[in-house]
Amino acid sequence: MKVLVATEKPFAPVAVEGIRKEIEGAGNELVLLEKYTDVAQLLAAVKDADALIVRSDKVTPAVLDAAANLKIVVRAGAGYDNIDTEYAKGKGVVVENTPGQNSNAVAELVFGLLVYAVRNFYNGKAGTELKGKKLGILAFGNVGRNVARIAKGFGMDVYAYDAFCPKDVIEESGVHAVGSQDDLFKECDIVSLHIPATAETRQSINYALVGQMKKGGIVINTARKEVVNEPELLKLMSEREDLKYITDIKPDADADFAKFEGRYFSTPKKMGAQTAEANINAGIAAAKQINAYFNEGCTKFQVNK
Ligand code: NAD
Repeated sequence: MKVLVATEKPFAPVAVEGIRKEIEGAGNELVLLEKYTDVAQLLAAVKDADALIVRSDKVTPAVLDAAANLKIVVRAGAGYDNIDTEYAKGKGVVVENTPGQNSNAVAELVFGLLVYAVRNFYNGKAGTELKGKKLGILAFGNVGRNVARIAKGFGMDVYAYDAFCPKDVIEESGVHAVGSQDDLFKECDIVSLHIPATAETRQSINYALVGQMKKGGIVINTARKEVVNEPELLKLMSEREDLKYITDIKPDADADFAKFEGRYFSTPKKMGAQTAEANINAGIAAAKQINAYFNEGCTKFQVNK
């Protein structure tokens, strides 16, 4: 079987070596397409691929149509909104993600960004501490749970809401479970977003929701830019000079947000999963999942069943 690794932003070399070991060790062929600059290169490379590993690369109907032999696509990472899962399903192509492999990396970044934000972006003026503050975690999945674990080390009072995770599971982790996302925003000093980008969550972080935060509220987004209604958040921040927005995903309206000096920060490039460990974990997990699919028909991580 031919396994194509197509990455506009390549894996770390050590991760590629780990992927190669897994794929070739199972008697399959590994082909690399790294740093491609044109989608035409991807369309040509997928032509005879049986399996595809991607990162944030877009797997569109055109890519799926060009890949006549394709049986499985694995997104090395958690969010898979870059893949047209329904179109793949129509073509009988299995789509998987590698949940949990980069969640500690993202969770650690949340705190790197939060300390920077509450210390006024290190501008020399006294800031505040995280200890004793109420942190709201929106979605108690792999990243959310790691954020909760680290927050407790900071001495924060941790709250969470998840539309699909039962309250008792949240509370078993020593986290207060609230009944709705409105309650989370009303209750907490800081809200950290960990929802996936779905039809339900897109644009859901809006004027009405964030407007319920207490004075000095901070929203931190290491999820997806699509979950934020940017025009409404801009309007709210222009009306409320106490609110801060910190993000790992540069908004479309970055220049407008940047006008809120001292209240807005975006990483120049998405940094959440950019650690050697996350790279290696997610890449090798993707390779192992492909082997398990070809050898045992395993579809445990399929997201388009
Ligand atoms: P996950 O699948 O483990 O958890 C997602 C959680 O969201 C689940 O518990 C689910 O029940 C919950 N959820 C789904 N819809 C919801 C809704 N409408 N309201 C409330 N909760 C809802 O995913 P994860 O690994 O925790 O990652 C979360 C998101 O973070 C990913 O989807 C991805 O978009 C983003 N992410 C970003 C980076 C980065 O580099 N910044 C890296 C990894 C993941």
